[in-house]
Amino acid sequence: MTKMLFDVSACRIDTLHSDWLHRRGIRLSLLRLDLVHPVVSGNKLFKLHYFLKDAIEYNKDTLVTFGGAYSNHLVATACTAQLLNKKSRGIVRGEAAPVLSHTLQQCRSYGMELEFVSREIYRQMQEPGQFIATEDCIVIPEGGYHPLGAKGAGLITTLAGTGHTHIAVASGTATTLAGLLAYS
Ligand SMILES: *Cc1c(COP(=O)(O)O)cnc(C)c1O
Repeated sequence: MTKMLFDVSACRIDTLHSDWLHRRGIRLSLLRLDLVHPVVSGNKLFKLHYFLKDAIEYNKDTLVTFGGAYSNHLVATACTAQLLNKKSRGIVRGEAAPVLSHTLQQCRSYGMELEFVSREIYRQMQEPGQFIATEDCIVIPEGGYHPLGAKGAGLITTLAGTGHTHIAVASGTATTLAGLLAYS
């Protein structure tokens, strides 16, 4: 397996036991990606993996990414940036509310510089080639929605064990789903 930047060994597989499942011959297990890190939990660290590796390899000092006021991806980026001694900038969709969401407050606490843009501008910035990065930053699309994000999500399959017939996954940008499909 590709060397992870963080220890992922806490991600154990829990098998659920219930009569209901048992009677139907269903074995249901949960891959506990939520245990990977108290803040950067679930799929987020995996989706960031290759962007973080690039940032380190090419010596980029800032991670720039996009998200809404409740984006776990923004927090994950802010927190990993801090852990890697990098700066972070979050482009936030919509005007700043008088009181920042808990999520955005968390982003700030990890040193993320927030920039609020209208939905219109935000949408334009997401279009390929629209956001011009300066030399010292890595730009990560919203939710890691990019082949590199999916490739990182593909690393999840190395923890999933074997023998399952179905994988169920919550989906937002579907980057995680794409990675699981492409790499399993
Ligand atoms: C971010 C997140 C998702 C969405 O992941 P995508 O790769 O954008 O589809 C689903 N579930 C949880 C708990 C998340 O934090």
